Amino acid sequence: MFPAQTFKGKRVAVFGLARSGTACIEALRLGGAEVHAWDDSAPAVEKAKAAGLPITNLHELDFSGLDALVLSPGVPLTHPEPHWTVLKARHAAIEVIGDTEIFAREAAAAGSRIVGITGTNGKSTTTALIGHVLTAAGLDVDVGGNIGKAVFLLRQPVKGRIHVLELSSFQIDLMPGLKPDVGILTNLTPDHLDRHGTMENYAAVKARMFARQGKGDTALCGVDDGWSASIADKARKTGADVRKVSVIEGLPDGITAFDGILRDRRNGISHAEIDLRNMPALKGRHNWQNACMAYGAARAFGVETRVIAEAMKTFPGLAHRMQQVARAGSIAFINDSKATNADAAEKALSSFDNIYWIAGGIAKSGGIEPLRPLFGRIARSYLIGQASEPFATALGNAMPVEKSGTLEVAVASALRDAKADGKADAVILLSPACASFDQYPNFEVRGDAFVKAVAALPGVQMTIGGDSHAART
Ligand code: ADP
Repeated sequence: MFPAQTFKGKRVAVFGLARSGTACIEALRLGGAEVHAWDDSAPAVEKAKAAGLPITNLHELDFSGLDALVLSPGVPLTHPEPHWTVLKARHAAIEVIGDTEIFAREAAAAGSRIVGITGTNGKSTTTALIGHVLTAAGLDVDVGGNIGKAVFLLRQPVKGRIHVLELSSFQIDLMPGLKPDVGILTNLTPDHLDRHGTMENYAAVKARMFARQGKGDTALCGVDDGWSASIADKARKTGADVRKVSVIEGLPDGITAFDGILRDRRNGISHAEIDLRNMPALKGRHNWQNACMAYGAARAFGVETRVIAEAMKTFPGLAHRMQQVARAGSIAFINDSKATNADAAEKALSSFDNIYWIAGGIAKSGGIEPLRPLFGRIARSYLIGQASEPFATALGNAMPVEKSGTLEVAVASALRDAKADGKADAVILLSPACASFDQYPNFEVRGDAFVKAVAALPGVQMTIGGDSHAART
């Protein structure tokens, strides 16, 4: 915890008493601000009071004497309707910001640098990968924001330090001064529209990653969807070094990896190549996009291509996202428990061959029908949970199917069969294409149960520590 010096002597209301809110309150107080904290949840208020936080009923406070309202990113700013504190702040004409905005002002004052990462998918992987690469290059790096630690639980901004921050659109919405040294937008597809109203609004918020950048800053922007591509074009006007990223086509000017070879070209001239195809934690086209972003960020800090390539090889991956957790000879065990729908499972199924697929749970609408073109990659399937019957029907005779019931049975059967079949480079993959709630409280617990069941099998070498969260930076 460190003081938020840029708010010295200011009067601030803070709404939202979860982890990031309470850390921000402490930082503001340490920095000499007058803080009035509140939450709609009575137990949260009681707990904060007991912890000695400065509680004021914001319903009763006159906002006109305040400098800012600091809002938790989970609280609606605009949709479905503005929170009552936002209406009060608007009426009093004070700024509405988040803890990440205050942190960014601290960083700017201290001369530290910020890498901001956003996008619909790939944020956490890209963030963790950048943290891993920059750390391997010997730079002074901290990783946080929407992933891992709240910003005020990171180390204090000092000159030379780099803060790698995953930023959700909700956080960006509360950062009017956002101006990252390296800004990243991975991709944009419809998501969170309940919170942003329309796709136009959602894209406009994401575009703010680049809007205030200027000369000396770097903008890395995916161009494989129309929304991001048009944001990349607009970013050119800022004077920042705009690098387009594609994993679909080769660009004469940009960073690409359509065939698994990362290429960096400027004006048609190739500057670097990295073969991503055998990087264990960067399997699949979607991860090539994340790798291109991480490459671009590391280059912006002067890290040599050779060092980036070596660091990418040792990236452990993020828990529950296509993470290799163990091996039994040439057979790999992959935990992709985060794949709670067919769209996410499609990424994993298209990344491997000779798959012993463990799937099931509570199916989403459409089931696994969209995965039919990938059935040829699956050697055998093992079904668990409520979706066993409908998934068995959908799979039909495409491959041998076992209704295993539980994860433990599925894992043991899959290993038995993979050994007996003797196919080269077989993969035992948990990528359920389902929610977990019939058998587990959430996808993390399901992934941990998979890891535990794998660890209990004979002849298996674990490639991650006993705690599968260890890889989360
Ligand atoms: P986020 O933090 O944006 O939710 P993650 O890095 O945690 O993204 O990845 C979540 C899931 O999204 C992964 O398991 C994978 O299925 C998919 N994914 C990851 N990176 C990408 C990408 N660049 N493009 C599309 N999908 C991706």
